[in-house]
Amino acid sequence: MSARDESPTTTDATAPMTPPEADLPWEELAEAATAAMRNAYVPYSSFPVGAAALTDDGRIVSGCNVENASYGLTLCAECSLVSQLQMTGGGRLVAFSCVDGNGNALMPCGRCRQLLYEFRAPGMLLMTVSGIKTMDEVLPDAFGPQHLADTGTSSAGNTESGNTT
Ligand SMILES: [Zn+2]
Repeated sequence: MSARDESPTTTDATAPMTPPEADLPWEELAEAATAAMRNAYVPYSSFPVGAAALTDDGRIVSGCNVENASYGLTLCAECSLVSQLQMTGGGRLVAFSCVDGNGNALMPCGRCRQLLYEFRAPGMLLMTVSGIKTMDEVLPDAFGPQHLADTGTSSAGNTESGNTT
């Protein structure tokens, strides 16, 4: 009767799907994160963090935390990771790992979950303190670029509302 076809389409399917988690180089990512952690600048907390991720074109990008005397301006390891992602060709993150000074898994902080969400590949997986999880599991109901697209404010021309922050 109804011509409406409820096909299970995904709206975020331009990039290739993340491969099954068994195929992901978790050990290599942990090693890259640990190597990045050794570059951390942490004179105030003495809490080095390293992060590494596999991109959808097979690169591994990484980052370390960089503290600041102001404390509040400290950059998490994920900040330098996504900067490196962009600086080395862009792309999307397929798998992510983050470690502390002993090489043990760490959870990205709340802000960094949002950073990772922005650059996630469909089905991106994260190694966490409680095993491998999806982006949706670590940041459910996330706000993202799709919401800006919905309201037509994703481009530079924000003509209606005062964006005065
Ligand atoms: Zn963070």
